[in-house]
Amino acid sequence: MSGTVYLVGAGPGAPDLLTLRAARLLERADIVFHDALVHPEIVALAARAAKVAVGKRCGKHSTAQNFINKRLIDAAAVHDVVVRLKGGDPMLFGRAQEEIDALEGAGIRYEVVPGVTAALAACAELGISLTRRGSVRSVALVTPRVAEGEEASDWATSVAAADCGAIYMGTGQAEAIASALIAAGSAPTLPVAVVERASLPDARIVFTTLAALRKFENAATAGPALIFVGPQFRARAHAALLATDSIAAAARSGR
Ligand code: SAH
Repeated sequence: MSGTVYLVGAGPGAPDLLTLRAARLLERADIVFHDALVHPEIVALAARAAKVAVGKRCGKHSTAQNFINKRLIDAAAVHDVVVRLKGGDPMLFGRAQEEIDALEGAGIRYEVVPGVTAALAACAELGISLTRRGSVRSVALVTPRVAEGEEASDWATSVAAADCGAIYMGTGQAEAIASALIAAGSAPTLPVAVVERASLPDARIVFTTLAALRKFENAATAGPALIFVGPQFRARAHAALLATDSIAAAARSGR
């Protein structure tokens, strides 16, 4: 009889945004495989478990997916409670399917525990509704990132066709993202909100427009960030651009 593998959402960052179900499973866990971005306080809840970092971090060392799948299967052969802890929600850009398919193939029981996804934590940070009544009735959750060997995605077309876009894994590509959206038919004046490290004490928010996003200072974004485009950010984006313009004007006039 093998154990159960729980694919658990760790939420967007803040440890107290973990669900109670996730916390209780961590307390019972025999072994935890966690992403690099999961807050150490969350991992520490698994007091009696062996802890294995299998972190995927953009551009940094990451553990190959096949290897993670195999480790989950092997762990279930010797442990009752195996937890695979992933940032945000496991079912959204979390590679949960690869793991589920492998577990099903090996005949291992699994359960998925949802978590608060980054887009929703970012809206909480902004105090702006993702589906603001009257202006946003559709949201495209997208990523420009494609894995090696995958076809290029037409994510920009989906965003241009929706009222609002929530772009995951887009940091470091601000210029390419803005150009792709404008090419797909989005207006250069479309408001943009970038939320970095949502739910954490050092969260950062930038409001701008697609045209100005092209010049966005990528070096300033160090942590994970969500890029939103949508009409609900218009008032704040305009205020931000006016402020930038008046700072620039003041600098030009020597004040
Ligand atoms: N499964 C996760 C997403 C994994 S993809 C979820 O549901 O949230 C990783 C991307 O999520 C990052 O590149 C970034 O775009 C976004 N992200 C994760 N945590 C974030 C945070 N605290 N603030 C802003 N964006 C975040």
